[in-house]
Amino acid sequence: MTKIKVFGHRNPDTDAISSAIIFAHYLNEQGKDAEAVALGAPNEETQYALDYFKFDAPRIVETLANEDCEVALTDHNERQQSIEDIDQLTVRYVIDHHRIANFETDEPLYYRAEPVGCTCTILYKMYKEAGIDIPQNIAGLMASAICSDSLLFKSPTCTHEDVDAAKACAEIAGIDIKKYGLDMLKAGTNVKSKTAAQLVNADAKTFDMGEHKVRVGQVNCVDLNELKSRKAELVDEMTKQNEENGFESFLLMLTNILTKETALLVVGGLHPEIEKAFEHTIEDDFMSLPGVVSRKKQIIPPLSKQF
Ligand code: MN
Ligand code: MN
Repeated sequence: MTKIKVFGHRNPDTDAISSAIIFAHYLNEQGKDAEAVALGAPNEETQYALDYFKFDAPRIVETLANEDCEVALTDHNERQQSIEDIDQLTVRYVIDHHRIANFETDEPLYYRAEPVGCTCTILYKMYKEAGIDIPQNIAGLMASAICSDSLLFKSPTCTHEDVDAAKACAEIAGIDIKKYGLDMLKAGTNVKSKTAAQLVNADAKTFDMGEHKVRVGQVNCVDLNELKSRKAELVDEMTKQNEENGFESFLLMLTNILTKETALLVVGGLHPEIEKAFEHTIEDDFMSLPGVVSRKKQIIPPLSKQF
């Protein structure tokens, strides 16, 4: 039996890591030979969830063509967010909730995309449809990923299906979703202990916008001033990244998860286009965006349209 390696996107977040672990479990339950791997180490928020529900972090891989396997992608599909040697691999499954771009296969595959707030919400439905019992710790991870992607149901990406799935999972897992979710999110907002490079790179993704290569990262916090006071070092790091990787512009979302507002730090070019996209001005490298918390729904679509 061909082994299937399951992984989420680069710079993995809680959904990327959890959905890989969970989908590997799902495939194993269906008699397939699957293993969850990851394209990076878990962040502090994800580590909190893994520790709480007693999972080991998935093995980190850089390439897979050397491992004689087929692959399943979760929580992403775009090539530049995937494994380095994706072009040499056979993709058998994709479970995702993002736009579809830069994705092509030679062979037929199982592809499931739904416009919900979290990949784990889709997986929850798949367990139900297949009649597979959801174990307590798997349910805990599902609830964690939904809390993370939906910022505890506050993000505009959050649907009633996400809320329903998270509540059902919380019950199976035996947690108080509001309390657990906030503790987990807070575990991921410890900015003091992180270097500028860690903050800038932690959650960054590259997007092709027309002919432009744009990098967009996000840092969650509970106090914007703490991050804004480190602007100089953040700008230095983002400038360096732009030069090294050919990004035309680097946008870093500094998002206060309690007040639901984002200060967008813009470093590099394309200022007029970016200002037009959001109908806000950039002052002192920052664009103030009240009510904005979601990269996927509130940052990427206006930018895509603009370019
Ligand atoms: Mn993700
Ligand atoms: Mn996700």
